[in-house]
This record gives sequence, C-alpha cells and structure tokens, in this order.
Amino acid sequence: MVELERPDVERRRTVRIGSITIGDGRPAIIAGPCSVEPGYVDQAVDIAEAGVDALRAGVFKPRTHPDSFQGMGLEALPLLAEARRRTGLPLISEVLCPEDAEALEEHADGYQVGTRNMQNYRLLEALGEIGRPVILKRGFSATIDEWIAASEYIRRRGNDDVVLCERGIRTFETRTRNTLDVSAVVVARELTDLPVIVDPSHAAGKREWVPALARAALAVGADGLLVEAHPAPALAWSDAAQTIDLEALVGLVQSTRHAERSLAPPFH
Ligand code: PEP
Ligand code: MN
Repeated sequence: MVELERPDVERRRTVRIGSITIGDGRPAIIAGPCSVEPGYVDQAVDIAEAGVDALRAGVFKPRTHPDSFQGMGLEALPLLAEARRRTGLPLISEVLCPEDAEALEEHADGYQVGTRNMQNYRLLEALGEIGRPVILKRGFSATIDEWIAASEYIRRRGNDDVVLCERGIRTFETRTRNTLDVSAVVVARELTDLPVIVDPSHAAGKREWVPALARAALAVGADGLLVEAHPAPALAWSDAAQTIDLEALVGLVQSTRHAERSLAPPFH
C-alpha cells in the first residue's frame, strides 16, 4: 500500500459549510429528505425547526435502477433558493458530474459525492478546483485507504475542505441495507486530519434502526450525522423506508446535544 503523506493528523481540520463548522467538537446534524421533491420548502422549514444545522438538498440522484425517480434536477433550483431563504441554513447537494456542480453553484453551500462516485476521479479533481466544501461518502466496497486516497484527489487540486462520510459498506449481511462500519470513523480520524461524519440512514435501510446507529456513530467520535428525514416519511419520493419522521429527528437532535455535553476527550 502506498502511504499518503499527511503526517500532522494531530491538528484536526475544521470545515466550514456556509454558516456551520464541521469538526469543531460539536457534532453537526445535516438532515432532509433523500431527494428534493415539490413540497421541499415546507419540509425544509419543519426540519430546520427540529434544530438541525444544515439541510440535505439532493436534486441529482444516483439511483441504482434507471426507472426510479432520478431527482428533480434543474427544476428544483428555485426550491433550493426558497428553502435557503426561509430557513437560513446551508444546503448540501449531491453532484454526479462537474456540470452538476456548476449548475448548483448559486444554490448549494456544500457538495456531496455519493458512494457510487467515490472513485470518479475526474469529478473529484473538478471539485478540488471549484474549491467549495465536499462531503465525500465512502464507496460501499471501498477500503478506508481507498476512501482517504480519493479525498486526496480533491485536496491535491487545492481544496482541503473535505468531510469524510461513512455510510455503510456491502458485506454478507442482508438484513441491513449496508453494514455501518463504525471502526472506519475511528480509523479515518486517526489516519487523516479531516472531519468524519456518519450517514446512519443508508447503512440501516430501515428508519427504526437509524437512531441507534446515530448514537453509535457519536459514541465512536463522529464529527456529525447526515440523516434522511421527512415530515411524512411514507410519502417520500425516494428511500421512504429509511427516512425518519420529525419526532425521531427531534429526539436525535436532543440526544446528540446531550452526548456533546457528556462526552469528554478524546471524542472531541
Ligand atoms: C444520498 O445520501 O442521497 C445517497 C445517494 O447516499 P449514498 O451515496 O451513500 O448511497
Ligand atoms: Mn437516499
């Protein structure tokens, strides 16, 4: 294995996304529906009221099946603008190619690279050049080293504002959608200076399991959570089964803020 030169992992990096800072010791909570849908603005207001720090705002969706809803695309941009205006929260939006990033330039505060694109190196390099913060999800079959190496494609183009996101990996287990690798949080935080957050939703695949996985993530030192939430989860246009409702979201925000007070270093 080729070792990457990032010796100063003791000095943890913080990443600003709009008005929030990830990696400053206070776990950030980013939440919202799997994909932006026509009712997004009101949903965003409800989700903001639950006390989250930033909003999921995916308009370009990388769906496994070509017949599944592919996201609203450019049509959703006015909804993003309105959600940002009404909530005052930063928006995170997934990009599948450099053109998506360009289209979202005025509307997203941070870009998300999904699990399927972790090794799309031309995309990573383009995001390195654009310079806006990037949440880099771990490929579902990527090793921790491959994930960190992918982050270097962004950083070597001059953009160190990278947040790693563990979202579950593919294992022999089929009861869960993916297997949440909590070890990866500990190991990635040891091997890099980047903040590491966790997406318990795509790991669990089932909303009832999301809060427990979120707590596990915080217990091992995650710098934040990326969670699918919706005021009426059953009606969500994608990933309904793993989407939590507002009550569960409020509970998650409260338990996170409680954990923040009770966890002593080295968790921070
Ligand atoms: C998402 O967060 O919307 C998503 C598509 O997740 P993943 O890339 O982890 O499957
Ligand atoms: Mn989803």
